[in-house]
Amino acid sequence: MLSLDKLYPQLSYAEKNGLFEKLNSIYGSLPETTCDRCGTCCTVPPPAYIVEYLNMFRYLKKNLHERIPGLLERAVRFYFLELADISLKCPLLGEDNLCLVYPVRPLSCRGYGLVRRDPNTGRRNEMEELAARYKEKYGIILPGEVVGFNLPECGRVRVVEDKKASGEMLEVAISYVAQLESQLFPVELVDGEYTFVPYVTHLALTVLPEGARLRRHKVIKEYLETGSSAMLENFAEKARSFIL
Ligand code: SF4
Ligand code: SF4
Repeated sequence: MLSLDKLYPQLSYAEKNGLFEKLNSIYGSLPETTCDRCGTCCTVPPPAYIVEYLNMFRYLKKNLHERIPGLLERAVRFYFLELADISLKCPLLGEDNLCLVYPVRPLSCRGYGLVRRDPNTGRRNEMEELAARYKEKYGIILPGEVVGFNLPECGRVRVVEDKKASGEMLEVAISYVAQLESQLFPVELVDGEYTFVPYVTHLALTVLPEGARLRRHKVIKEYLETGSSAMLENFAEKARSFIL
């Protein structure tokens, strides 16, 4: 994850080496789509590479400057509470159910619903394992509706231009983005998917102090037991005044 002091050098390396132009051309290889905009798929924001996050970060600074304090606060709240409250959605989803960073949304958001596949493949097992770990290690029972949440397979995505989409096309696009990522990080990290987490996690970990991640379970416990968390309020307030 990138703290702010490491983020800017990576950003300027990516700019100087044309990584964002290459990334946008990979995005452009997929067909443009439209859908019913119900926002359901943004309940579980999918992972993104850091090169994609840097692209989104640049977009935020340029186009959504006034909204940044609010978005940082929401990102921090989501980071701490996504395992406790299923009503939370990706903080980058606007009030009108439209993605605030649509032109720079990651490949995994672009691929959702484009190709028919079970979006929960692997997720159910991962969540059950995570819930068992939280119970054993911290004595926390994660809510059943979070652990058992199933993202519906969406059949309402429509291609708006004369391009065909296929699973193979998506796989190729993912491998190209992974190659760009390997220009920023050692290939073992990229292959191990250590740099592949949702935008909201990237953003929260850029603004949170070191060690906040270690307190995540304490916030969850406090929140599940009392319905609020003083520690979380403290982190959220600091995030609002964080200067990017
Ligand atoms: S892709 Fe499907 S689930 Fe996601 S917002 Fe559009 S209609 Fe809703
Ligand atoms: S980045 Fe945009 S499309 Fe992706 S989960 Fe968030 S709001 Fe939804």
